[in-house]
Amino acid sequence: NGTRDLQLFEVLESEVRSYCRSFPTKFQKATGYQLWDSNGNGYIDFFAGAGALNYGHNEPQMKQKLIDYIMRDGVAHSLDMATEAKERFLSEFNEIILKPRNMTYKVMFPGPTGTNAVESALKLARKVTGRQTVMSFTNAFHGMTLGALAVTGNKFKRAGAGVPLNHSISMPYDGYMGKEIDTLKFIENYLQDSGSGVSLPAAIIVETVQGEGGINVASSEWLKGLERLCKAYGMLLIVDDVQMGCGRTGTFFSFERSGIQPDIICMSKSIGGYGLPMAITLMKPEHDQWSPGEHNGTFRGNNLAFITATEALRYWKTSQFAADIAVKADKVKRSLQRIISNYPELNGEHRGLGLMQGIALEEGVAEQISQLAFEKGLIMETSGTNSEVIKVMPPLTIDMEGLETGLQLLEQCMNDIKL
Ligand code: PMP
Repeated sequence: NGTRDLQLFEVLESEVRSYCRSFPTKFQKATGYQLWDSNGNGYIDFFAGAGALNYGHNEPQMKQKLIDYIMRDGVAHSLDMATEAKERFLSEFNEIILKPRNMTYKVMFPGPTGTNAVESALKLARKVTGRQTVMSFTNAFHGMTLGALAVTGNKFKRAGAGVPLNHSISMPYDGYMGKEIDTLKFIENYLQDSGSGVSLPAAIIVETVQGEGGINVASSEWLKGLERLCKAYGMLLIVDDVQMGCGRTGTFFSFERSGIQPDIICMSKSIGGYGLPMAITLMKPEHDQWSPGEHNGTFRGNNLAFITATEALRYWKTSQFAADIAVKADKVKRSLQRIISNYPELNGEHRGLGLMQGIALEEGVAEQISQLAFEKGLIMETSGTNSEVIKVMPPLTIDMEGLETGLQLLEQCMNDIKL
């Protein structure tokens, strides 16, 4: 991949940096599903900004809207003041996304990141129920601040907070204990056990597919079971759709396949459309219980993000986009299954749905593949507690040719590992 020109980053940037170690080059330009570095090397993007670039890099229509808005001196930053750009986003989101799905929710802007959406959900659930703890799951990822980390099922990430975190209870995710053990029953037994001092949680927070945790897919029945438990025990159901939302699993909201109606929904990453920071927390109207100022923050009114977020909604005006995702998802699934069967000695296991798929491998192999892929011009992240899963997560707008080329590069990596 040519010479690397990363000296300044080595000298000045804190040791906390991570992705720049996996992908050691200086990126300069990006369009659609491709990136180029300062040496002119091209890369296919099977990473999509960890889900923030579902519509690809520099999506032309969003870019044009952004340029037009800036050229007419549209308000860029407005805290939580009312602006035209915000009004348009809210009204289009209601018309294009909520109404056709018969969903009645209030929209809150919790701050610019996914973690902000999660924090707002945890706080709100506590406020609404008057309860303290939140139930979460093994291998969950919800963010890096203290509250979000407390519901994150990852020992390494939690270590970043130094000492133990409070107010959470971790339960086994669907499939975690094998097919024979009914985790819903296990959870219900726990909730019923007031005799041993169990106090009921304020909420259950769940990802319908665990992205960072290894592409673990919860079944629709299991998700419905969680909804039932929430109703029965007075807990709110929070779906963290930060990574799986905005079409990643094939539908706008990841939970649509299960038919559940969460009390609170957290979204970020691709909601801004262009990779611009933006998050929303959706809540059922009866849970809109904060007084003005009880949850605030300076960067809740990024109007540039509102402009691109509104433009992104055009993808969802008809069912064509979801139909296209399904065709691409099917191609990825068939290719991954074929690759797995071509290299039986690697013991690969297919994971995922929609354009959130991957291959689980033995420890260390996925990381090697990610490195080999980078050298061949394919950006792919690993996930899972031990980075054991290779993640195929292209922009949803990728064309068949890009998909095919990326998958061929992945196959070459599997072949190289084998040799
Ligand atoms: N929830 C989930 C499911 C995520 O995948 C992430 C980010 N990977 C977050 C929350 C946190 O989002 P952010 O990094 O924008 O704070």
